[in-house]
Amino acid sequence: MFYQMYYRIIWLCILSNIFLASLVSGTPIVLKKTPQKRPVWGFYAHQQINRLAVFTLPTDMMPFFKKYITYLSDNAVNPDKRRYAVVGEAPRHFIDLDAYSDTTTATLPRFYKEATDRYGADTLALHGIVPWQIQLTKYQLTEAFKERNVRRILRVAADLGHYIADANVPLHTTHNYNGQLTNQQGIHGFWESRLPELFSIDYDFLTGQAEYLYSPQKAAWRAVFKANAALDSVLRFERQLTDEVGETQKFGFEERNGVTTKVYSAGFSRRYHEHLKGQVERQMRASVKMVGDFWYTCWVDAGQPDLKALVKYQLTDDEQKEEVEEKKNWLKRLFSAREEN
Ligand SMILES: [Zn+2]
Repeated sequence: MFYQMYYRIIWLCILSNIFLASLVSGTPIVLKKTPQKRPVWGFYAHQQINRLAVFTLPTDMMPFFKKYITYLSDNAVNPDKRRYAVVGEAPRHFIDLDAYSDTTTATLPRFYKEATDRYGADTLALHGIVPWQIQLTKYQLTEAFKERNVRRILRVAADLGHYIADANVPLHTTHNYNGQLTNQQGIHGFWESRLPELFSIDYDFLTGQAEYLYSPQKAAWRAVFKANAALDSVLRFERQLTDEVGETQKFGFEERNGVTTKVYSAGFSRRYHEHLKGQVERQMRASVKMVGDFWYTCWVDAGQPDLKALVKYQLTDDEQKEEVEEKKNWLKRLFSAREEN
């Protein structure tokens, strides 16, 4: 029954393009173990991160990005939407650092080519490739800027924001991505959807200006290791609090889109959030700043093309039609993938 409820909410959310609120519930998606079926960042946080990153940009870039801020925010969740439609999409969102006995550069090469030489592409895909994906997408955005291809710039910038945000989530860096190995199922959506939805209104998102990254590759790995270092408290505090309050107080029910949904109770969420001492805020801020840094770095590396000239560009009818068709296709695949499960 929870499966049906979950799917129903997903369809409602995707179709109306609002928060993927169902992820905050302790629904059975948590029991699924293959990488393709991992839960995803909440829509809300992804959209916020891409939107806020625009305000970190220098004046040469800001008008262009501001004009398309709705596009960048709405399309921040494309990579999650297309995970069933595009081969190879699923592993781009995470990396199980604990799948490797040693994560130094010697055993976990920071460049994809060396990593594939060592492990093979299949093994890497199995454990996730987010830091390498960030490097690849960074390259693609630089190319799009060089081509002055507005549509491509926007599409790739939105994607890059997504992968960067994912890399900053502690539970995107472990095999125990939803607490399924420690009897904490649901913690993924709890941390990255429920908490930002409840508390991010009070977060301080003034991160300062975007800065040039001399080594985007190192920046991507730094983010992943930093997120991973926060994992211990993510899991530990949830366990402690659960022991303290018991299962009945841990969960409650809320009405979402006309469906009664099981959620982490407001009280439990507040206490957990307090225990984390600003961790979700720190990770969201880090994402915002990092997205700005990467967009800026790509633009600089492309030779600082004049974005004022591009600001007037309007997507052609054909381009707009293509965008709509593409999304319909992802949705179709998502439906059939769900039915196959
Ligand atoms: Zn994702």
